[in-house]
Amino acid sequence: MIIFDLTCSNDHRFEGWFQSQENFDHQLKDGLVSCPVCGSIDIRRVPSAVHLSKTASAPHHAQGIQMMNPHGEVLAAYERLLSAIISSCEDVGKGFADEARKIHYLEAPQRSIRGEATAEDFESLREEGIEVLCFPSANKDELN
Ligand SMILES: [Zn+2]
Repeated sequence: MIIFDLTCSNDHRFEGWFQSQENFDHQLKDGLVSCPVCGSIDIRRVPSAVHLSKTASAPHHAQGIQMMNPHGEVLAAYERLLSAIISSCEDVGKGFADEARKIHYLEAPQRSIRGEATAEDFESLREEGIEVLCFPSANKDELN
């Protein structure tokens, strides 16, 4: 995401948000960029050093990026993260809550596990100070 400082033929200054330089060029060429004050489409860019990435300090905008691209990079990154977590954990299935407790109280070998648990299980595990990560199923069929 890039912010350009723009100005119209009447010298009104404003900001425009664009996905990329190419995206901006396209919109400008098609007359889709107009001055919010006078509506002029005779717009040009004012040199500016303001280039924001997805990690911009305004979380509001970061969320907007995610919404615009729900099935693209964000989802792919999420799936990569998820499969990395899954492949590094031992699957204990429905015995997750019990096994997590045993590990926490040193009654079972220390390791990362994954499995199924109810919301109540998660809550009581957290109340006991056991660090658990809860995430929705990454089953592709369910996502689509
Ligand atoms: Zn204007």
